[in-house]
Amino acid sequence: MGTSEGWLIPTAKALRVTSTTRVGELDTNGTPGFEGGKSLGARLLEERGAVLSELQEKLFACARTTDEHRSVLLVLQGMDTAGKGGVVRHVIGHVDPQGVDHASFGVPTPEEKRHHYLWRVRRELPRKGQLGVFDRSHYEDVLVVRVHDLVPRTEWEARYDEINAFERDLVDSGTTLVKVAMFVSLDEQKARLAERLDRPDKYWKYNPGDVTERGFWPRYQEAYQAMLDRTSTEHAPWFVVPSDRKWYTRLAVTELLIDALERLELSWPPADFDVEAEKLRLARS
Ligand code: AMP
Ligand code: MG
Repeated sequence: MGTSEGWLIPTAKALRVTSTTRVGELDTNGTPGFEGGKSLGARLLEERGAVLSELQEKLFACARTTDEHRSVLLVLQGMDTAGKGGVVRHVIGHVDPQGVDHASFGVPTPEEKRHHYLWRVRRELPRKGQLGVFDRSHYEDVLVVRVHDLVPRTEWEARYDEINAFERDLVDSGTTLVKVAMFVSLDEQKARLAERLDRPDKYWKYNPGDVTERGFWPRYQEAYQAMLDRTSTEHAPWFVVPSDRKWYTRLAVTELLIDALERLELSWPPADFDVEAEKLRLARS
């Protein structure tokens, strides 16, 4: 876990949830661990995006040439307008699309409702060698579901342990989880929703229900706190990313992914043919 340009301490260390993390007291406008502003952040995003891209290609290449099952899964959670889509576009956008398994989770369809809540999640897990991205996830089943009591309390209460066990199995089978909780302030969310109402190219993102959910803000904070307290584990820790500044969010997530991929200590697969002999053959062809 190195420290790259602009960072005073490694990103993962600056953002990892601790027992003293309090959702209600987060500085959502902060840039933990990072010394520098938007212009440095934007330059680094491009540079580090290229590094991320190469690491992802290595993961992909290794999967094609070995039996090892390794994949990385980025889990994005955050209130509406937190910038999950922006991370997909501006962070994952650096990576070759053929190496990405993307899934988003909305209100369950009638078919999904007939199954266990993890059913739809299991179907979208990244394949070997892939970088998976979840725009929302199984955590909705202890967030929106908890806030609105969409199932009885005893049922959602049991899910924290169940999710930990589920993720334990995932990790044991070779998937590295990078869980990112993105937090915007109530004011910043208001400004971003207002922008959606001011711009015809953003109407499609506006959902009147989002304003209704603002009324449940304290209950969401409580649900997010419980999620962090009960599902940040050694095998799959949460990272809390302040998200009022989009450039910071994107740079931070890039660094978290780079860190996760570097820990895999991947190397380019060696040639399974005689390189010199092939050069000769090619020259003569
Ligand atoms: P968006 O991400 O803006 O497309 O919105 C997706 C919506 O689906 C959000 O309002 C989520 O709270 C909602 N959602 C996602 N998963 C669930 C779930 N398991 N139960 C109920 N609502 C959900
Ligand atoms: Mg939305």
